[in-house]
Amino acid sequence: MDELRDLFRRAADHAADYRRSLPDRPVGPPVDQAALTRAFAVPLPAAPTPPEQVLAELVAAAEPGLVATAGPRYFGFVVGGASPAATAADMLAAGWDQIAFNPVTSPAAVAAETAAGAWLKDLLGIPATASVGFVTGGQAANTAGLAAARHRVLADAGWDVERRGLVGAPPVRVLAGAERHATVDRSLRLLGLGTDAVREVPAGPQGAIDPDALAAALREAGPGPIIVCLQAGNVNTGACDELRRACDLVHWHGGWVHVDGAFGLWAAASPATRHLVDGLEAADSWACDGHKWLNLPYDTAFAFCARPDVHAAAMSYAAAYLVGSGGVPAGADLTAESSRRARGFAVWAGLRELGRDGVADLVERCCALARRFADGLTSAGFEVANEVVLNQVLVGFGDDARTDRVVAAAQADGTCWVGGTTWRGRRLMRISVSNATTTEADVDRSVAALVRLAHDVSEGLVY
Ligand SMILES: *Cc1c(COP(=O)(O)O)cnc(C)c1O
Repeated sequence: MDELRDLFRRAADHAADYRRSLPDRPVGPPVDQAALTRAFAVPLPAAPTPPEQVLAELVAAAEPGLVATAGPRYFGFVVGGASPAATAADMLAAGWDQIAFNPVTSPAAVAAETAAGAWLKDLLGIPATASVGFVTGGQAANTAGLAAARHRVLADAGWDVERRGLVGAPPVRVLAGAERHATVDRSLRLLGLGTDAVREVPAGPQGAIDPDALAAALREAGPGPIIVCLQAGNVNTGACDELRRACDLVHWHGGWVHVDGAFGLWAAASPATRHLVDGLEAADSWACDGHKWLNLPYDTAFAFCARPDVHAAAMSYAAAYLVGSGGVPAGADLTAESSRRARGFAVWAGLRELGRDGVADLVERCCALARRFADGLTSAGFEVANEVVLNQVLVGFGDDARTDRVVAAAQADGTCWVGGTTWRGRRLMRISVSNATTTEADVDRSVAALVRLAHDVSEGLVY
């Protein structure tokens, strides 16, 4: 038994040493992917290997290819870190090896999800009666929310989609903003609705849906099953749809509103940004990530549904051997997985660690640091191309080619990591401030590096 203790301690020591190195190590160092692959691709031995040796080999093989996404100067995509308590709880979840299937397989895992789910609804302003499925990401949360939507709009048309499938079903129309996240389309494909079902609603300059265009699209769609996908937090600009007005419009037409709020829904947790998602409680389903802005470990996200019965009707399954099925929907009744990791432990621990004020502070600090980025780069003469309403900043460094060169130079430099994006036909640098450990000094150091690299690019020193 002491050997197991020693093994787990060693793993924890490696993780802690790595975390401690994050503020100082280059972010996203240049990697020889072929060498990394070779380091892992040793022949599978016929005989067993002692666990300590396996751990040492794993650390040696993986270390050169780790990206400091959990560190304070990773500003790519929308990537958060992972808080100490949540990470430790996630290690325990692995140690305990619980199956969050239902209260029979793990009473503790289900209780943690129930408690954490209630906290999440409270923080986000989602009705306390809503159901919460603990899923793997915004993608899976969109799929669960849209599955519930599909169930309800077809049931209203007299069609049992779970039993009969979609062949011969009344057509379902899906209205979604032109700047929706690509995962929405994949969810629609997986649900058999298909991307041809989408009527794209034009978006305004920041990427939020145009409410007048939505009203017109709803009128044009006429009666029949209709699902509307709204968005809180555009991945490029951070813009949020006008949820209150849009929900009113859609409900007047008898439709279902799903809100993809993978990171933007967290605007609700701070009085300073809450107005951006005003009216969110009126929606029917919501997708939100834990592993992005809430700084929980991967893979953690939430599928909320205002109608637990509809949520369970779309997602649950029953089998004779499943003791407890048919009771209050829990665990696997609300997600597409059967056997499932106990994600609730890390969620509970992360929220307990931050507290209500800590979550609000996290949101406010990231928004303030995003504005600091924007101010620093504007003062240096570069163009901020979006209204910085949340934690996302788009920057132009001249023409498309020059901006791409600055992005590439920044990625090679390693002071910070930023990505490129195409927004409204232009190549731009995208900066997302989503990590709880990022400081003003991290932003200033990153701005200085970007300004230096932009000048190097102009001077032809970097291509
Ligand atoms: C990140 C994101 C998703 C996908 O979330 P995953 O956690 O990567 O599955 C969906 N929608 C929006 C708006 C996002 O930002």
